[in-house]
Amino acid sequence: MTNIHATTTAAQTTAAQTARPPASPLHARIGAALTGAAIPADLLDLDAHDPLARKREEFTLPGGVVYLDGNSLGALPRAVPERLQQVAAQEWGDALIRSWSAGADRGRDWMNLPDRVAAKIAPLIGALPHEVAVTDTTGVNTFKVLAAALKLAPAERRVILTDAENFPTDLYVAQGLLDLLGGGYELRRVNPDALDGHLTADVAALLLTEVDYRTGRRLDMAAITAQARAAGVLTVWDLAHSAGAFPVDLRGAGADFAVGCGYKFLNGGPGAPSFLFVSERHLGNENAAPVAISGWMGHADPFEMDRAFTPAPGARRFVPGTPMVLSLSALDSALDVFADVDLHALRTKSLSLTDTFIRLMEPLCARFPLTLVTPQEHARRGSQVSYRHPQAREVMADLIGGGVIGDYRTPDILRFGFTPLYHSHADVARAVAGVQAALEARA
Ligand SMILES: *Cc1c(COP(=O)(O)O)cnc(C)c1O
Repeated sequence: MTNIHATTTAAQTTAAQTARPPASPLHARIGAALTGAAIPADLLDLDAHDPLARKREEFTLPGGVVYLDGNSLGALPRAVPERLQQVAAQEWGDALIRSWSAGADRGRDWMNLPDRVAAKIAPLIGALPHEVAVTDTTGVNTFKVLAAALKLAPAERRVILTDAENFPTDLYVAQGLLDLLGGGYELRRVNPDALDGHLTADVAALLLTEVDYRTGRRLDMAAITAQARAAGVLTVWDLAHSAGAFPVDLRGAGADFAVGCGYKFLNGGPGAPSFLFVSERHLGNENAAPVAISGWMGHADPFEMDRAFTPAPGARRFVPGTPMVLSLSALDSALDVFADVDLHALRTKSLSLTDTFIRLMEPLCARFPLTLVTPQEHARRGSQVSYRHPQAREVMADLIGGGVIGDYRTPDILRFGFTPLYHSHADVARAVAGVQAALEARA
């Protein structure tokens, strides 16, 4: 069976290679508009003075494409493949079990790799290294920190307040946890721009995503966190579209908990581990945030094989199991890209890129049924720009075929993510030329 299957697959692959159809005329037209776009002098000037322009060399990017989806899967940092090769061949293949520990005997200290990665993420989100843990997926980490928040809150507070339009996994995981807890618990969905009156005495935790995945609308984390704290409500921030996109200041805001993705703006690769943040306030000896999934790797001394769980100091207690060395190594290497990046310069450039995109798209909004849904106000914008279009799904398929890679989000959103580490203003002009060609072809 296996052989027949393998033969069929190989035959199909060969057929596909020899008979690959030429790019459709539409895709060729979009591609030509993109590669042939005239770049306005003011944009060339901005690129010439871009302090982050040198960072692009640290990424592998395909030719003939403007990749505007780093908010879904960050591009590949050049150093990562070599690191993965080394981890597989030497650390795993050669040193084998010795790699788990530190030491002269080829030890690579895999055991503490999650903590080293956490220390690289901490400055990007305004946290101390021991407040960050790197493990699991964002959804699983959301479950863990929500469970901790509900346990920390007084028993009469049994509501999780969240954005009615929050990312599905946040809603599903919160609901799943509350269903598990049973009686009296409730997920209450509200508009995060109108929280007044909702931070009531029955609310335990406020679960919000700072930057909306569809519209790119950014919330005022500092103001909302202060408002929640004043009302006795714990905050859980989802930083999926924040970490690595602009400076985040969790400690400055006084946040209690946060989660975020390793594979979006942190460029850690497909399925990269997620991170979670627990404020130092909840890591002390008294009133510590309880660890729902108290696995051995979160124990203070895993190899004591103690019968009872004693949490490790710091957020490491939330790393339940054996560190995912291969994916952690990719993320560890990817994060080195940020080592010499001024996050304020990153934010300035992100806003300049999104401002430019919005401005160049304006004439297209006048000619075609495109509606900007991303706030124009800088403070209320993340690092993406989105438009509604009645045929968004089809338009995005055309664009991707032609080399402008953004994405479509239900029901009618065209989403374009900007990554200041590897985009230039010229890329923005090229992308808009591609969008124009796609819309003209469809009209
Ligand atoms: C991408 C994203 C996630 C992803 O969750 P995973 O569990 O890592 O798949 C979670 N929350 C938000 C807001 C996201 O945009």
